[in-house]
Amino acid sequence: MADRQTQDTAKAQIDALVTQLNQWRREYYTQDAPSVEDHVYDVTYRQLQDLETAWPALVRADSPTQGVGDVVAPEFTKVPHPVPMLSMGDVFSLEELQDWAHRLEAGVGEPVDYHVELKIDGLSLSLVYDKGVLVQGSTRGDGNVGEDVTKNVRTIPDIPQTLSEPLSLEVRGECYMPKAAFATLNAAREAEGAAPFANPRNAAAGSLRQLDPTVTAKRSLATFMYTLVDPANYGVTTQREALAFMARLGFATNPSSIVAHDLDLIDQYIAAQTADRDALAYGIDGIVVKVDQLPLQAALGNTVKVPRWEIAYKFPPEEAATVVRDIEWTIGRTGVVTPTAVMDPVPLAGTTVARASLHNVDYIQSKDIRIGDTVMLHKAGDIIPEVSVVVRDKRPADSVPAVIPTTCPSCGEALVHLDEEVALRCINPMCPAQVQEQLTHFASRNAMNIDGLGPKIIAQLLDKQLVADVADLYTLTADDLNGLDKFKEKSVNNLLKAIDNSRQNSVERLLFGLGIRHVGRKAAWILAAHFGDLAHLMTASVEDISAIDGIGPIIADAATTYLRTPAVHTLIAALDAAGVNLTFKGAAPAPADSDWVGQTVVITGKFTSFSRPELTAQLTALGAKVTGSVSKKTDLLVAGEAAGSKLAKAESLGVPVIGEAELRDKL
Ligand code: NAD
Repeated sequence: MADRQTQDTAKAQIDALVTQLNQWRREYYTQDAPSVEDHVYDVTYRQLQDLETAWPALVRADSPTQGVGDVVAPEFTKVPHPVPMLSMGDVFSLEELQDWAHRLEAGVGEPVDYHVELKIDGLSLSLVYDKGVLVQGSTRGDGNVGEDVTKNVRTIPDIPQTLSEPLSLEVRGECYMPKAAFATLNAAREAEGAAPFANPRNAAAGSLRQLDPTVTAKRSLATFMYTLVDPANYGVTTQREALAFMARLGFATNPSSIVAHDLDLIDQYIAAQTADRDALAYGIDGIVVKVDQLPLQAALGNTVKVPRWEIAYKFPPEEAATVVRDIEWTIGRTGVVTPTAVMDPVPLAGTTVARASLHNVDYIQSKDIRIGDTVMLHKAGDIIPEVSVVVRDKRPADSVPAVIPTTCPSCGEALVHLDEEVALRCINPMCPAQVQEQLTHFASRNAMNIDGLGPKIIAQLLDKQLVADVADLYTLTADDLNGLDKFKEKSVNNLLKAIDNSRQNSVERLLFGLGIRHVGRKAAWILAAHFGDLAHLMTASVEDISAIDGIGPIIADAATTYLRTPAVHTLIAALDAAGVNLTFKGAAPAPADSDWVGQTVVITGKFTSFSRPELTAQLTALGAKVTGSVSKKTDLLVAGEAAGSKLAKAESLGVPVIGEAELRDKL
């Protein structure tokens, strides 16, 4: 009877865990929108594994322990994986890692060399080449059948379209979104009222698993390849050789791996990578320890779900507890109202955190975050502080749900929810907070680049009613500015000069500075270069615009809607009358004596004096061909700060490399 009861209890627990985990898996893999943290999933998964080990007869066929990932989304063409794409076993401490290695070596009967790599936080990707030409890209899917994302992978700059040798092969690796691209994408999504991605992994998955490849193209995805399928066909016998072989063919491979047979060395590697983790340009969620000898890997084989020859050491979550003291509501340039938690400052993963975006009303309500609550914080993708959970036990007795504003905190107009938007919006175009943000954006470095016109000056200009829109900036006089607080004569002259200089900007800066929805810097440049001036763009149809390479229907629609608004016509006429240039000055024919004519150039890393699109435009205008990936055909790599795999690859291929200072001299 007692046994019966225990078995019944175990079955009920197993049923509940399988249902819960499968729901989380659907959210994570199919919808790219997890509702819990990875470590919550991992701990729950462990509970299920432990119960299943104790009660093998109760293992359900639909248990997440019995299969990889999730079903293939119906909108994608299915791609079979003749060699299954598996998941990976994991351990959460050095002791568990040592136990795994000791068991493995006891089975093999001798010490083993390990290839130790970073566990890149993205999603697995398979690439197939036929005689050196890329023919297929697919996701892992359920491990046996994945999703066809060939068109999308063609837009990822570091994936070679052709290999340096005409080989037919399959490689696998991780597709990820660099941290900087993730932060930019989420900021843009929040400004537009769209739900932000939970972490770079989900952002990468959501960007790769797109039906429209032009969306993927805009998401700055990158890859590291780490598996060569059927290595024996190419005489490759170790994982180390496999990485070198793939790098030689033109793939991006991660440079930070080591070969070790000594577990102490692996521990040291883990300690060093844990310490350096924040400084990496991409997210890692652990370390992968693999048997280096590929024939031994094959001999060890796989379980239904994971290879026996590799294991993931997962980093413990970095969390901190603090108290929410206030919820601030701020209005962005497009009227989106974003809540921010103001908290007691607390150290977390290398910085002190006192504020965290709460994104939107749904987010606050689903987590039921209240002023006075103790919350656990973590960093999404190691960068953006996020509230993980509210610690309910510590909630004060008199706590009340967060008050959601119904009117704009800046102008007092009623706030609205536009169709299918999670965000609250203020739709009053004259709302001072929005105008302030618009002017700040207009003056910013990547837009009209008006040095000295920061938020504090703009606030005073608005307050004194010296400006109401961006065109008014061009009517400002020294007398107007002399009256501003803490503004000296020299600053007045400098600011007037900076405003005057901005009249000469090429029109893509103005287009970007106007803050048209969905029109970022790159789209602004493409539109300006295509139409040559604003007048032609203003009369173009949605069809004309969406036919341009690199511009999709969403941008085309947003641009035409904006440019057809009567108030915008008045604004542009005022800018024209003020002498602001409305033509594209970027692509003059290359001067005959330019050293850059015919040079194939790759740009990587960050620059202090140019944005990447500007640099591309400048080099193209000088006759260079700017391409996305380094190969033997590359004549020069221009490497800014934090250059990563492209730099390593250029060095390995002997491609000349110059830095920003040298580039400025050359220009
Ligand atoms: P995994 O992500 O833990 O590990 C396997 C994967 O690691 C491989 O498929 C590969 O894509 C990747 N990888 C990265 N770097 C690698 C390298 N150098 N070598 C080899 N592979 C490398 O396993 P999984 O099955 O993809 O996902 C399970 C994990 O996903 C869980 O442990 C959990 O953390 C997370 N998850 C979270 C939720 C949630 O709701 N938050 C739901 C489901 C899964």
